[in-house]
Amino acid sequence: MTELRYPYDEHPPPGTTVEVAPGVLWLTMPMGGGSLNHINLYLLADDEGWWVFDTGLPLAETAEYWQQIFSTALGGRPVVGVICSHMHPDHIGQSGMITEQFRCPLYMTRTEYYQARTFSIGGPSHYGTWQSEEYFRRAGMPVDYLEALRTAWQDRGGANPAMSMSQTGVPGSYVRMQDGEILTIGGREWRVIVGQGHSPEHACLYCSSLKVMLSGDQILPVITSNVSVHANEPYANPLMVWMESLDRLLAVPADTFVLPAHNLPFYGVRDRLRGLMSHHEDRMLAIEEHCALEPATAKELLPVLFARELDARQMTMALGEAIAHLHLLMHRNRIERELCEDGCYRYRSIDPDLGRRSHPDRHDAPSDQPVMV
Ligand SMILES: [Zn+2]
Repeated sequence: MTELRYPYDEHPPPGTTVEVAPGVLWLTMPMGGGSLNHINLYLLADDEGWWVFDTGLPLAETAEYWQQIFSTALGGRPVVGVICSHMHPDHIGQSGMITEQFRCPLYMTRTEYYQARTFSIGGPSHYGTWQSEEYFRRAGMPVDYLEALRTAWQDRGGANPAMSMSQTGVPGSYVRMQDGEILTIGGREWRVIVGQGHSPEHACLYCSSLKVMLSGDQILPVITSNVSVHANEPYANPLMVWMESLDRLLAVPADTFVLPAHNLPFYGVRDRLRGLMSHHEDRMLAIEEHCALEPATAKELLPVLFARELDARQMTMALGEAIAHLHLLMHRNRIERELCEDGCYRYRSIDPDLGRRSHPDRHDAPSDQPVMV
């Protein structure tokens, strides 16, 4: 297993900050229940004010904590810009509030910004179209599953609209960030490094003079970011670009201090990247071994990836993850898919060398459950 080093034992309480590098403040905001307690957000000191990196869920308590931060932690100076790593609600949820209050720009990559804007406008539900029915049928799900899923999402939306991808408060304009671009903040250069797979064009920021990286959800030290195929793009190959992104991130110095969006700040970036890559390789090998014995649907492969009983919503995420692993295996010519008479795809292993690679008794323990980030 990987040996990571965590200089801080615990998160700062919401409403307070800790300086974790010169001019870099760490704060946390609540996640509104669920399996994760915190999202980590960061403030970067500039000459005239502060930059906010990621903003928290659109909860009333998060907005209140922000006001507390604004009045106590900024030394009377304003926020001069908001940077969002990607379009998930815990990252963009307060971007509208902050940019309105300070009349400052929102910085995002283009794909993330327009995906957020598209979701904010609405349109056909992911779970109400013939395309989504077909997607789930092909994955091997029973007909009544979509109904259960709609109910689960409605209940959840009613209880906690903050978690919805359809964020209505996304600012009406933005400044585009691109991979490789440099942002100069407080005399220091922060390079934009784009990763893909968890979200379409996720921005990390790396400062070589501080050896600090703001990694968003692209590199997390404990949990494994969700990398899923979704019904709205059923033939996507997100795990391929995720693995490529992790590989590319290995270029950052080994002694980089990583400031992630969840869990604690840590050292050991290369160990973590290699650990994440081997985790997915291991999951793929377990799938190949299973599909060598008999062809299986995506649904039948869930116990290979997740040990725990899953509810309807977790099942969707787990299915998306299973299909992501299958699509990369197909790309590598290790798995073949057949559309059967019952409307399900069944996957079978086709690599003649599988016997030499396989080690069915020595896999990682399956993760407990899929996580939303
Ligand atoms: Zn995310």
